[in-house]
Amino acid sequence: MSRTFPSLLTVFAGIALFSLAAPCVAIAANVLVLYDERRELPGLSAFDSSLARTFSSASSGSIVLYREDMDLSRLGSGDYPLRLRDHLRIKYADTKIDVVVAVMGPALDFVLRYGGAFAPEALIVFAGVDPWELHGRVLPEHVTGVLLERRFAPTVELALRLQPKTRRFVFVGGTSEFDRRLIEQAKDELRPFEQRYEFRYLTELPMPALLAELRRLPRDSVVLYSTIFRDGAGTAFVPHVAAQSITAASNAPVYGFVDQFVGRGIVGGRMYSLAEHGAEAAHLAMAVLEGSDPAGLPPQSPSNLTTIIDSRQLDRWGLREEALPPDAVMLNRQPTLWSQHKREVVAASSILSIQALMIAALLVQRSSRRRAESKLRESENRLRTMADTAPALIWMSGPDRRFVFVNKMWMDYTGLSSEDALDKTWLGQLHPDDVTRCSEAFDRSLIDPHDFTVECRLRRYDGTYRWMLCTGLARLSLKGDYAGLVGCCTDISERKETELQLQRHRSELAHMNRIATMGELTASVAHELCQPLGAILSNAGAAGMVLGKTSPALHEVQEILEDIQKDAQRAGETIHRIRSIMRKQSVTRRPVDLKGMFKDLHRLVDAEATARRIMVHSDAAGGACVLADPVQLQQVLLNLVLNALDAVSARPDGDRRIVVCVRDSDDQSVTIAVADTGHGIAPDVRPKLFQPFYTTKREGLGMGLSITRTIVEAHGGSIWAESNEAGGATFCLTWPAAACSLSLS
Ligand code: ADP
Repeated sequence: MSRTFPSLLTVFAGIALFSLAAPCVAIAANVLVLYDERRELPGLSAFDSSLARTFSSASSGSIVLYREDMDLSRLGSGDYPLRLRDHLRIKYADTKIDVVVAVMGPALDFVLRYGGAFAPEALIVFAGVDPWELHGRVLPEHVTGVLLERRFAPTVELALRLQPKTRRFVFVGGTSEFDRRLIEQAKDELRPFEQRYEFRYLTELPMPALLAELRRLPRDSVVLYSTIFRDGAGTAFVPHVAAQSITAASNAPVYGFVDQFVGRGIVGGRMYSLAEHGAEAAHLAMAVLEGSDPAGLPPQSPSNLTTIIDSRQLDRWGLREEALPPDAVMLNRQPTLWSQHKREVVAASSILSIQALMIAALLVQRSSRRRAESKLRESENRLRTMADTAPALIWMSGPDRRFVFVNKMWMDYTGLSSEDALDKTWLGQLHPDDVTRCSEAFDRSLIDPHDFTVECRLRRYDGTYRWMLCTGLARLSLKGDYAGLVGCCTDISERKETELQLQRHRSELAHMNRIATMGELTASVAHELCQPLGAILSNAGAAGMVLGKTSPALHEVQEILEDIQKDAQRAGETIHRIRSIMRKQSVTRRPVDLKGMFKDLHRLVDAEATARRIMVHSDAAGGACVLADPVQLQQVLLNLVLNALDAVSARPDGDRRIVVCVRDSDDQSVTIAVADTGHGIAPDVRPKLFQPFYTTKREGLGMGLSITRTIVEAHGGSIWAESNEAGGATFCLTWPAAACSLSLS
């Protein structure tokens, strides 16, 4: 029974299902695999390994494989096939072969012709046979197989993906019958490309000429290699060995159509995997062994093409892997450090990354620190220049009061170098009388960081002292701790001198004023002196009269003498008071009892007031003491009372009154008021009252109130004028209070 080769693609699906779902079956069978060539050829080797693996895993190892490498293309001429047939007959005489797997067309031809001699009952499964090899042939019913359809166009398309700038294709093939059949098939299939690209078929050349042609090829060519079993000179070749020579000689990348050439120098191609093919053949043989009728299993269409690429050749020709389809199988990829030592690489790169980051951070830090340092230097230089050109002595001290910085003017002033000046306390430059005051100012700045102001005398390079006004601010550390002071000193010697002069002039003026006041009070003074002197005189007369009696009453004389003594004392005190007013004496402050002060005042002005028919009333009833220089306080009160006398003089009789009293007092201060019923103060006069030389009197000097205010303020008090509601004026002055127990007046 025989049948014609049909194209039953549908059955392939069945086999595929079998192959996927096939469980392990316990079949005991002998399978003879006939290779047309030798299994040492790479394609057949891959086929054989896969076939054996598939049998073994699908049958629990109960299938016995026999293999024959027939080497037909090398030895197939003459009567070799017949001798081989006999050999096999003898060899397998006692072995029943259940299935013969014939690999490649020549093996199929051999088994079909001679198989009855060594495997008479065997079913036949072929593999690696191209459909065109079966074209028009009728296969017996016990034969089936898997086809290996060689296709060329997909590889050409692959080459164009990898080399889009290709201008020509060179097809290389041999002259054996097999070679020629492949070339014819390729020409048919590649005809559409010939319209777009230059196509050359180098298929008739002897090998040396072929290689020479390939060496001359421009780089933008693509070489397509099918097979060379025999070259143009009739020399036999093994195709994969020929592939090696061709790929070595070619100046352009070489592509192939079967995977056995991969590793021989070709870039790769869209090709069958002979390994897969072996597995398919084994599955089909298993199906037959399990009882499937080969007549019901027509030859199977081949499985899909696979893109197989030799990555070393990609590198050699500089082709881009990205251009490949995603399912491309890459062979001979050089193992990368990553694939070999993933962990170590991760660890090392992590360490390196961290290290790099740290180095980068350090570099950034260093550069920003350098920038900051240079900015700091710049700013320091700027500050130093400013400090050195400033017209003042600038200094900076630490918490221990030692200098940490002085400017040029300081060094010029003191004559010290910066080495000599720094690390010393600046108190050493001070006038001995000012050291305590400056130390106190330093101490105060610890409590109030904004309070460092002191006037002191600083020693100059020539040993003389000049007055300086030194001000400073506390420096605080980043933590907020006291870090010392920064400040400056300006020379105020001239101002100081002017002030001293002014003070001298003032006190001279005050003295003049006192003398003038005394002039006005001459009558009063005379009255003061006349009264005790008159009393002394009349008392002395009275004493004489008592002593002139025959029996003088001595105790009367005694009383008279005591009166004389008192009057003499009173006159002496008056003279003493006048002298002290007239005298230029230094200011001494002490507690003064206002009661006594008012009494003295009253005595001084009494004669004058009486003469002018003015009533002067003083009242220190509550009792109060002030801290004052008594002479100056008396001068102040005298000035105010004398002005009041002038103010009330023009008033009608009976309306001329002056009251001197303590208006208010507490622990801190005492307010004294001198009120009168005089003409009062006109609004335009009020602002000018205390100005020097302002007077509304024909013979006035205009210095009384000015001096009065100076004295009051020098004592830490204040003075102002008020207008009385009922007319007249009241002059008020506050004065620092003192404890009366210490009163000495
Ligand atoms: P003088 O008494 O020489 O004029 P003063 O400085 O003592 O200088 O007084 C300045 C001016 O203030 C006086 O000329 C007067 O106009 C005014 N004055 C002073 N005391 C009184 C007072 N009690 N009532 C009204 N005016 C006064």
